[in-house]
Amino acid sequence: MWGDAMKVKNIVGVVIDRMSPELDRVFHYTAPDEMYEMLEIGMVVRVPFGRGGAVIDGYVVDMPEEAEVKNLKEILSIVSPEPLFDTKMLAVCRMMQKECFCTLASAIRAITPPGSGARRERTNDKTITGSSLAIGFDEAFSILETVRKKAPAQAKIIELLLQNDFVANADIRFLTGASQSAIKSLEQKGIILPQEMEVFRNPVEYDKIERTMPLAPTPEQKQAIDRISEAAEKGENRIFLLHGVTGSGKTEVFLQAIESVIKRGKSAIVLVPEIALTPQTVARFVGRFGVRVAILHSRLSLGERHDEYKRIKRGQADVVVGVRSAIFAPLSNLGLIVMDEEHETSYKAENVPAYHARDIAKKRAEQYGIPLVLASATPSLESYFHAKNGEYELFTLPERANESKMPEAEIVDMRKELVGGNRSVLSARLKEEIAHNLERKEQTILFLNRRGFSTFVSCRNCGYVVRCEHCNIPMTYHKNKNFMTCHYCGYTTPNPAVCPECGSQYIRHFGTGTQKVEEEVKELFPNATVLRMDVDTTGGKASHQKILEQFEKEKIDILIGTQMVAKGLDFPNVTLVGVLAADLTLNLDDFRAGERTFDLVTQVCGRAGRGEKKGRALIQTYQPESHVLHYAKQQDFGAFYEEEIELRRALSYPPFCDIFSVLLTGNNEQALSAYAAKIANQLRMETLKNDGMNVEVLGPGPAVLGKINNKYRYRILLKCEANDEVRNMLYAMQKKHHQAKESKWISLLIEANPNSML
Ligand code: ADP
Ligand code: ZN
Ligand code: ZN
Repeated sequence: MWGDAMKVKNIVGVVIDRMSPELDRVFHYTAPDEMYEMLEIGMVVRVPFGRGGAVIDGYVVDMPEEAEVKNLKEILSIVSPEPLFDTKMLAVCRMMQKECFCTLASAIRAITPPGSGARRERTNDKTITGSSLAIGFDEAFSILETVRKKAPAQAKIIELLLQNDFVANADIRFLTGASQSAIKSLEQKGIILPQEMEVFRNPVEYDKIERTMPLAPTPEQKQAIDRISEAAEKGENRIFLLHGVTGSGKTEVFLQAIESVIKRGKSAIVLVPEIALTPQTVARFVGRFGVRVAILHSRLSLGERHDEYKRIKRGQADVVVGVRSAIFAPLSNLGLIVMDEEHETSYKAENVPAYHARDIAKKRAEQYGIPLVLASATPSLESYFHAKNGEYELFTLPERANESKMPEAEIVDMRKELVGGNRSVLSARLKEEIAHNLERKEQTILFLNRRGFSTFVSCRNCGYVVRCEHCNIPMTYHKNKNFMTCHYCGYTTPNPAVCPECGSQYIRHFGTGTQKVEEEVKELFPNATVLRMDVDTTGGKASHQKILEQFEKEKIDILIGTQMVAKGLDFPNVTLVGVLAADLTLNLDDFRAGERTFDLVTQVCGRAGRGEKKGRALIQTYQPESHVLHYAKQQDFGAFYEEEIELRRALSYPPFCDIFSVLLTGNNEQALSAYAAKIANQLRMETLKNDGMNVEVLGPGPAVLGKINNKYRYRILLKCEANDEVRNMLYAMQKKHHQAKESKWISLLIEANPNSML
């Protein structure tokens, strides 16, 4: 009966708005003539689905001329007549589906503003109460499946929070129709976390921001501005890397390049990391371009975000400044994309789909035939590698545009402190400098990087760190089992009793909390005012801001903090910064440890001496010979890069390979580890069958967080070149898993180049 099937007309391909992998394909429907006339790619339609006569929403993704199908059901109605995406954005979604191993439906949800049509809720509050997921997304997915029937309202809330890091409770109620008690119930079950967020003021008070004129560029700036503008004008799909220390005038370069783009009637997207999207940043752009600037920030209420989307879609904004997801801004005549602080890890989404904004930016730039500008003071090794290779064009701004000097940094050898009998977390040098600062009424920041989960094992006498024999990654100490594991390959050994290097007994796991530091500092300096800022004391972004205001206004002497104090702060009276244990970042169980440390130490040191007075930075460590610290102290990125890239090459880490993580979670550890081993073996067999495929399969081994909410976590890693063959192999494996009976209680998540191995 082929002939009959061919005659079917008005065929519409629909993707069902459901997250289950089994439904991840295009379903065909027909439409009555009148409706078909109105249909467009990107519209939301309501369709009958399955045998039970359920009615579900879906997205129109295809309108084929003809298809070999029959017995098609009819689309019931059009839900949103305004398309949510065009064919270009659909192509972006298909890319995400492929590269993030997610369903097309979840990719579509990621690019569209949640709750299209949301009512605007205006409040004058300084903070909004909202929620975010308290659990990992793989777990959320499995809960979602069980909750959907019993408590559909709760399921909708989970779905919404899977797509958004944070949603105001008023928005949750409005968008899902759920009641406050449904939110409460999820809170009590530990699935979602209540949070107070500082409201990000929007719309911007455009008339209150003073207009600025372009500054006369320095010769280096001019070269970059001219070349980027030229590439934009000629429609060259080039990637530029703008490398320059903080304050070297990079923003001024974007502003002038964007201006030339706007003059030709085109638009631009500027991505900035969440912590950098401050009122000052907004003012820089609004000051130059006025009301034509739209701001996309996750701390806008969904209603406000939706308003900004509408403005962008209608062509009322030509410059979109925003965080990671702003890369999906529906500008139709893109002329330039800028990504500031391109090395920031927050550009990689943690939730499904775990996309990297840089990859999306490259794809969109390619679609429009336009340039992409990446900028940073400490570029990612990957980007700098491509720039050195000549794949990207490199511009360097070597000096600060204003006169202020970089602080003087000094490395303090903590091994000598131990020999001298000092067991405090503060070295004698640092105590001395803090005392100086107290006398002169200048402020001090003490920085302690603390992730809280993983600790490495090192020798306090000689600085030796236990590393995996196979991966050269520091081994992670598991307290309750008293052994060490490599989170790349799963290699496990007991703790050494004495240091293999020097024989000292002072070899043990490393870890100090901010609380302990606070106690010590208060004891040492009883007359000083001390403030602590970490996840425990902030608990929400509002108090984060409050603590900083207090620090500045009340002239608090000493601020002790974690990552939160590292970036963006600009207080003229801070003249001393102490990095208490540089080792904590240096020995992250991650091949990017060096890169992260370099970035962090340079940033932290940059907090000192922002004003007239000269700043000092003291970096305490048990590994004073580390090349990373040495170059960070000298602020010499080029030298750091040269040495680090050779390490990456020798050990085969990105950019010389790609890493895929396969994370398996389940509540029966034995069965889980057996299943993980089976999958790993299958992958090994596959790669052997195909000897052209240069893949190394590592593991399985327990993840850094071996158990969350009573679920065990095992990981398999693949090191390889990311080619389609490997992706297809992983795809097939994922599909097989979803068909296996184990998929009922084991969830599987594939991620390309993950940020961390948690
Ligand atoms: P970055 O983005 O690299 O941190 P900015 O563009 O913010 O640097 O510039 C740092 C400071 O220097 C700003 O106050 C800016 O106004 C100023 N500045 C930048 N370029 C020039 C210039 N060509 N002439 C004078 N001042 C400049
Ligand atoms: Zn030793
Ligand atoms: Zn290993």
